[in-house]
Amino acid sequence: MATLTASLGTLVLDSSNPFAAPSALPYQAPPFDRIEDAHYLPAIEAGMAEQRVEIDAIANNSAPATFENTLIAMEESGRLLHRVLTAFGCVSGANTNPTLQDIKTEVAPRLAAHSDAINLNDALFQRVSALYNQRASLNLDPESLRLLETYYDGFIHAGSNLNEADKTSLKQLNEEASTLSTAFLTKVLAAAKESLFTTTDVSTLAGLSEAQIAAAAELAKSRNLEGWALPIQNTTQQDFFDALTNRDARKALFDLAWSRTQNGNENDTTAIITRIAQLRAERAKLLGFPTYAAWKLHDQMAKTQETALSFLSGLVTKATALIVQEAEDLQALIASQGETFELQPWDWSFYAEQLRRARYDLDEEAIKPYFELNSVLEKGVFYAAEQLFGISFTERHDIPVYHPTVRVFELTDADGSPLSLFYFDPFKRDNKNGGAWMSSLVGQSKLLGTLPVIYNVSNIPQPAEGQPALCTLDHVITLFHEFGHALHGLFSTVQYPSLAGTAVARDFVEFPSQFNEYWATYPAVLAHYAKHHATGESMPAALAEKIRKAKDFNRGYHLTEVLSSSLIDMQWHTLAPDAPLQDPDTLEAEALSKAGLKLPYARPRYRSTYFAHIFGGGYAAGYYAYQWAETLEDRAIAWFEANGGLTRANGERLRTMVLARGNTEDLAQMYENWISEPATPVS
Ligand SMILES: [Zn+2]
Repeated sequence: MATLTASLGTLVLDSSNPFAAPSALPYQAPPFDRIEDAHYLPAIEAGMAEQRVEIDAIANNSAPATFENTLIAMEESGRLLHRVLTAFGCVSGANTNPTLQDIKTEVAPRLAAHSDAINLNDALFQRVSALYNQRASLNLDPESLRLLETYYDGFIHAGSNLNEADKTSLKQLNEEASTLSTAFLTKVLAAAKESLFTTTDVSTLAGLSEAQIAAAAELAKSRNLEGWALPIQNTTQQDFFDALTNRDARKALFDLAWSRTQNGNENDTTAIITRIAQLRAERAKLLGFPTYAAWKLHDQMAKTQETALSFLSGLVTKATALIVQEAEDLQALIASQGETFELQPWDWSFYAEQLRRARYDLDEEAIKPYFELNSVLEKGVFYAAEQLFGISFTERHDIPVYHPTVRVFELTDADGSPLSLFYFDPFKRDNKNGGAWMSSLVGQSKLLGTLPVIYNVSNIPQPAEGQPALCTLDHVITLFHEFGHALHGLFSTVQYPSLAGTAVARDFVEFPSQFNEYWATYPAVLAHYAKHHATGESMPAALAEKIRKAKDFNRGYHLTEVLSSSLIDMQWHTLAPDAPLQDPDTLEAEALSKAGLKLPYARPRYRSTYFAHIFGGGYAAGYYAYQWAETLEDRAIAWFEANGGLTRANGERLRTMVLARGNTEDLAQMYENWISEPATPVS
């Protein structure tokens, strides 16, 4: 398809462009050493043009629709576009620059239009529909039947049944929404970069470790600032709150983080998010649903907004009971130190950390020397996977990376066969989106003959030159979490690319990741990776025991901040189609007070104006998924505990029945089949 002619109105991609042909590197890994910023836009344009030609050929085929000439052909289409967008998504999210941001802005509405040109193509839909109506007599294997059903549902969900006038309106809404989401992410990133807490008086940073103060000096220097600078985290709560003794400094850092995208300057996202919410409500109405959430949830495990909302309300009582008690304990601690102020959000971590130390004799600074990043990764995260699945990891220095700190590992199966590549990009950079995530550079598919290439990104503070990267317990848990998503991608063994790996419902996708966190503090795993970075000594058993005992400490706070964000997400996405533009503060207050969760000392994990999961990512009306998946996770932990824990047999059953299966079965059924019986021993 590289020889499309201009007469078709399509573009030919210069053969010197690294995206012009599939990568010749192992696993078709992207040739990042040859890819330049200038290669992306022409490749995206040519990729869209190529897929349009392919889709038109399928839609206008004069032969009657068959599974092969329609569905298989669609699965095989768009390979160039896939190649370039996976690489582009990776670098523009994890290592961006103004050129890449401009490309992102330029292509966002065009990609939305491209998707609509496929999803709203009537001739194509008629063929899929014809196949769907004869599905009982097509003799399809279960995975192929699932593919057909997924396509058919996808077409209906995207608006294929609409009349032409409504399709035109829908396309306009989609393009505008896509442009706005991209602009939102650009502003959130810029705001995080610009919101630096700075000081020229080092005593303001009292409480921070020497390494943290050295890193703060380096950050200030890198920005040509005098003194010291602290970066902000993408969440409302900030890592430094647990240690900063100066209450005014904590408050200033909090205000900076809280108002980063809501202070009237060029990075204010208020107008963008209010319009996105309105567009989504209008789109839902066009598609025949009362709200965006109703539209979004129909193919998720929860199915309806009522189910999701009542699930969340069911958690409020539990969260409130816990957090109110925790707040009383912290207030008592404040009083015991002769202070009279009321507990505020910027005080929470500071006093919670003291209480944790007193109650469990556990000090975050005493833990960190045992959590050196490479040890956590290779002797913890990888080790657990080796024990469960019999796989092995080998670092590959010959695979090009997009940033010098990215590491690449090859996974090999128990029988020696090659499985996949895994990229690991650990450090915080101000040209990287906040938080942590997993995605793929090459999707797995037997049809296309591709093995998975998966990456994890996180935002662990980069240590000062020559220092080891020491993780907090939260960082460690996050590494296990993201690797749980990675395993879902790395083990994928399906026929069709669109059903592979993590292409599952949002409220299922967090199950493998949250469950994988379980191994972080599992005794045999913790003992294997928690070694002192300087002395190599194992973490003392008593300290490891304290970590496990303290695991549920502060649980009310964590539950409340996530639950608050979930409720706010649902409030935005259950707006009526004719609702006026909302004021974010009013909407948030309403969502929380309605649920009985408006507490002065606990703010939502994300304020709406920097809530990238829902306004820039795929979690709109889906943030509840984290808590939903917890119920799946709790049962999974109980299953592992009842069946001997970290064993090959248990890992094998989880791998073959869930992690390898992508979206090839009904997910609730897949889960129940897996958990219904113990594992059979692996020979
Ligand atoms: Zn996750």
